[in-house]
Amino acid sequence: METVHELVIIGGGCAGLTAAIYAARAKLDFVVLQGSLPGGLLTQTTEVENFPGFPESIQGAELMDRMYQQAKQFGARFLIDSATSVSPENKGYTLTLASDQFLKTQALIFATGSHPKSLGLPQEKELLGGKGLSVCATCDGFFYRNEVVCVIGGGDSACEEAIFLSKLCKKVYLIHRRNSLRASKIMADRVINNPKIEIVWSHVPVDFSIDSQGFIEALKVRNVSTNENRSLACKGVFLAIGWQPNTEHFKDFLTLDAQGYIQTLNGSVCTNHPGVFAAGDCVDARYRQACVAVGMGAQAALEAEKWLMENE
Ligand code: NAP
Repeated sequence: METVHELVIIGGGCAGLTAAIYAARAKLDFVVLQGSLPGGLLTQTTEVENFPGFPESIQGAELMDRMYQQAKQFGARFLIDSATSVSPENKGYTLTLASDQFLKTQALIFATGSHPKSLGLPQEKELLGGKGLSVCATCDGFFYRNEVVCVIGGGDSACEEAIFLSKLCKKVYLIHRRNSLRASKIMADRVINNPKIEIVWSHVPVDFSIDSQGFIEALKVRNVSTNENRSLACKGVFLAIGWQPNTEHFKDFLTLDAQGYIQTLNGSVCTNHPGVFAAGDCVDARYRQACVAVGMGAQAALEAEKWLMENE
């Protein structure tokens, strides 16, 4: 007879692994689809200093490995595979996987995360691994104390990152491709009036200058009106050009907002499909923090457990 799992968790980052720890301790029959980046985005950062319980900080990859081991020791089962589509079927759901296999389940947790939009410049990926490029000032700003940094973007995120960094860093360049900020007026005014932030209007990044150790030492930018290039000496570059939730494959199944984030009901982790829950950065456009994703992962597993009990 065909196996129908009680639960499938799509995603093996903070939210997915926390859901797995809870589901395993509740003795549910479930599998975790780890996707193309087991451990999620945190595996690509270096030190994590703001995750409670680690006063000496912890490497992102180690933190995720600990969550994975914790889930595994309680009996969680993992598949290195991704869901490419989900469809409702006989009171449950059928998932098509990248490996062309199918999974059937009664309940589902989407914990698919998000990815930062990239500039598409050479070496971006390598530099993101602690070599000067970052997508999170809250996470990495501390490493650039008293240094010069650049922030790319002109929205609320870029302004927020620039203001945060201005409290730690010697100087912050805000590089924006147009001559007015997209950010809300209050955020834009704070940036414009901040003496430590210099806005480099109508410029786009074109290349990184890298030192002999492989770290960023300058950012080359081009004036989009004159085509002239200039080089800004800096130790860190923070990308704030937006995030993309990993929900593309599920847009026909889930209700998404205009940016692609999963819409949940009244701020909960419940979606409009019975037994389908969503947690972490695929839902949360606002905080995007590991601790928040962990909390949502726990909520989603508790909701799934309750739903299964009431509906089995
Ligand atoms: P966003 O509003 O989409 O802004 C992205 C910025 O990056 C824009 O200024 C855009 O330029 C620029 N950009 C995009 N692609 C680029 C590229 N390839 N090269 C150079 N620049 C590029 O994204 P966000 O700032 O992350 O905000 C997302 C949502 O969250 C917004 O609704 C925002 O209000 C909200 N948010 C709110 C808060 C808050 O209230 N505290 C904080 C953060 C975010 P253009 O302007 O030319 O398009």
